[in-house]
Amino acid sequence: MKTYISAWPASVECPPFPRRLAILGATGSIGDSALKVVAKHPERFTVTALAGGRNGQKLARLCNRFKPRYAAVLDDAARREYFAYVEDGCPTELFVGPDAYVRLAALDDMDLVLSSIVGAAGFEPTLAAAEAGKMIGLANKESLVLGGHLIRAACKASGAVILPVDSEHNALFQGLAGHGSDDELKRLILTASGGPFRGRDRAFLETVTREQALAHPNWSMGAKISIDSATLMNKGLELIEACHLYGLPPDMVDVVVHPQSIVHSLVEYVDGSQLAHLGNPDMQVPIAHCLCYPERVTVDVPRLNLATVGTLTFEEPDLDAFPCLRLAREAFDAGPSHPIALNAVNEIAVDAFLKERIGFTDIPAMIETGLDRHVPVDVSTPEAVLALDDEVRRETRARL
Ligand code: NAD
Ligand code: MG
Repeated sequence: MKTYISAWPASVECPPFPRRLAILGATGSIGDSALKVVAKHPERFTVTALAGGRNGQKLARLCNRFKPRYAAVLDDAARREYFAYVEDGCPTELFVGPDAYVRLAALDDMDLVLSSIVGAAGFEPTLAAAEAGKMIGLANKESLVLGGHLIRAACKASGAVILPVDSEHNALFQGLAGHGSDDELKRLILTASGGPFRGRDRAFLETVTREQALAHPNWSMGAKISIDSATLMNKGLELIEACHLYGLPPDMVDVVVHPQSIVHSLVEYVDGSQLAHLGNPDMQVPIAHCLCYPERVTVDVPRLNLATVGTLTFEEPDLDAFPCLRLAREAFDAGPSHPIALNAVNEIAVDAFLKERIGFTDIPAMIETGLDRHVPVDVSTPEAVLALDDEVRRETRARL
């Protein structure tokens, strides 16, 4: 019996090409990579909807180029900026406000959603796409951290399928393909680059700056995930993401640090085989895999030459210097409301660090305090999830 949801059920047909695509988070780093894939394979996609956040200018430029039927921005300032840059005759209809994302995620004339908003703001649109039975390329890991139980149930009820864009989970998806029996699986092994501060001790981490923390050695990404990578919270969120995607307990998901980011994760089977996915680190690869699934298409990334790479190294994560990974594991073990609290405190703390209001090591300290104070609550509805997220954010801001 398969328990993982990231496999296309045999009974469901993939939407035909050209696929009518909505990109929620089109103006971000994942949006950039996705639109490179779209531009390389225009015959495979009709860009139906593009949503940005507050970057009206960039969204307008994308609409001028890709001419989607619909677009969305978060607020009036972004709307004004959008109209200052959108060309006369652009056919796009613009929606404004948080509700617009939910609406675009469930459009009738669209089959494929790339969920690439950053943070908890991605939860409601992702759930809406799941309820509407869409094919979903999921980059927004926070939506599973908040409400993986609800998204999973919605997929089951509607026939929606989540294809993991996150490179590690995409690697696992490929390593799991064709193996249907749960008792064949021993464990999943997520690789982590270790971020810019790998090998550093706590005393050094006390001193690091915003710029140092943003400088990821291997991947070019948005600011929030770059800081999450530096604290190892990204791997903590990914551990929770993997448990939801593949229906596994956290003790079946291990993490190994692999500084070169060439091996994107591994699946271990009971016979001792470990299947790894290798490639140069570029998000266009997992994005193209999801958007064109089950077909493979060419992607403009440098080919991997292992002889040139020479050496691949692996080491244990340092959970003393980087407690976020441990905190995420503990939060997932503690029950469904703890990860929501973990994520909310993390988002507020990362934002405060980016604004230089707190230091780097204050991020895990604030999360630990937040989890200690958290009293478990029922989160069996989307409203309860959002209410808890909101409450923890308010409490955390008050402690800054
Ligand atoms: P980013 O900051 O570059 O882009 C975020 C996008 O979300 C932008 O389009 C922004 O306008 C939009 N946005 C921000 N807040 C919003 C809100 N409140 N409502 C609606 N839209 C909002 O981030 P990114 O690096 O592209 O990451 C996006 C998601 O993908 C994150 O969940 C991240 O963890 C995940 N992810 C990213 C990468 C990567 O390489 N960048 C890899 C794996 C997973
Ligand atoms: Mg990842």
